Amino acid sequence: MSQPTAPVVTDPAAPPEGVSAWVSVDLDAIRDNVRELDRRATNAEVMAVVKADAYGHGLVPAARAAVAGGATWLGVAQLTEALELRRAGVTTRALTWLYPPGADFGAAIDADLDVSVSAPWALDEVVAAARDRGRTARIHAKVDTGLARNGALGTGWTDLVAALGPAVAEGAVEVVGVWSHFALADAPQHPTVLAQRERFVEATAELERAGIRPQLRHLANSAATLTNPDAHFDLVRPGLAVYGLSPVPDLGAPEAFGLREAMRLTARLALVKDAPAGQGVSYGHEYTTPRDTVLGLVPLGYADGIPRHASSVGPVQIGGERLTIAGRVCMDQFVVDLGPSYAGRAGDEVVVLGRGGDGEPTAQDWAATVGTINYEIVTRISNRLPRVFVGGAGVGGGA
Ligand SMILES: *Cc1c(COP(=O)(O)O)cnc(C)c1O
Repeated sequence: MSQPTAPVVTDPAAPPEGVSAWVSVDLDAIRDNVRELDRRATNAEVMAVVKADAYGHGLVPAARAAVAGGATWLGVAQLTEALELRRAGVTTRALTWLYPPGADFGAAIDADLDVSVSAPWALDEVVAAARDRGRTARIHAKVDTGLARNGALGTGWTDLVAALGPAVAEGAVEVVGVWSHFALADAPQHPTVLAQRERFVEATAELERAGIRPQLRHLANSAATLTNPDAHFDLVRPGLAVYGLSPVPDLGAPEAFGLREAMRLTARLALVKDAPAGQGVSYGHEYTTPRDTVLGLVPLGYADGIPRHASSVGPVQIGGERLTIAGRVCMDQFVVDLGPSYAGRAGDEVVVLGRGGDGEPTAQDWAATVGTINYEIVTRISNRLPRVFVGGAGVGGGA
């Protein structure tokens, strides 16, 4: 392997000297990815899923960029995230779906949020909050078609449908949507995909027989949006693809779907120093320098979301060259063997992940290296790293 000899400055969004590491997020990429999904991948409406701080990309800026790209809906797991969107002035229709008994459904109604309902107890609580306010709550009834996670399963769906009738008649709720989620959307030929779709159609028919006709039937996540048009119905719910990552890396890289990665993680070397051959490096001395060399200290660790499983295997790019983490990843830092001819210095940029076009590691490279999925790599990047937003002209206002 050739060794880097000179530093390169690669990130146009680089913050001032003195900042150790940062995440730059390309809002134009998010906008364009949604536009691609909306115009090319589907005729259905697009709900951009922005849960988990937009998969680590920054909830509000990512949501605005997605809306600029044509998303007519936003989706978040937690009510607090949905309320944060509203506090920021984002008025786009938004669905929230994960909460315990006692959640603040009144706040959801006040904020004009759509709430998923998977069980009669949840319906009862939403109805009580709606009555209190003399308003109609907007709900999406969730059927479990085989993921066995959220949603009403089997006769539980029949019970939920039965409970919906009176709530609708009373005007306490409007059933805006009926929805479900796949277990194996990333394996589009898998028999469960067809079976779940069939169950979804059946469950929708059951609802219609009870006189309830939701405007929106929705089932597809990113993988189903990109690979399974039969599952699109009235609205699709892509998350990962919005951020330019492939939900089916074995079937295609992001470019194959017209997507581009929005996240780039960069650090600045905190120290560069000569080390002799035979020097053990980092906790446990898992790595030993094979020759006199130059070591670089990268100010990122597992507290920042670098997997500790990346010890001795995680990829980085320095001076245009691909290098591997030397020894253990610590809480705040790891070390790289820069090779004997490294001519750079402290402050040089280390690209930890990016789009890959210039040889930098991608989130998918990281996932494959440490045995996880690209979703986890981007989502786990800690909030203690500043997000720097690139692009996004025209998406700054209240969306
Ligand atoms: C996270 C999530 C999505 C988006 O999934 P991706 O695979 O990221 O596209 C859609 N629907 C539900 C219910 C989810 O939890």
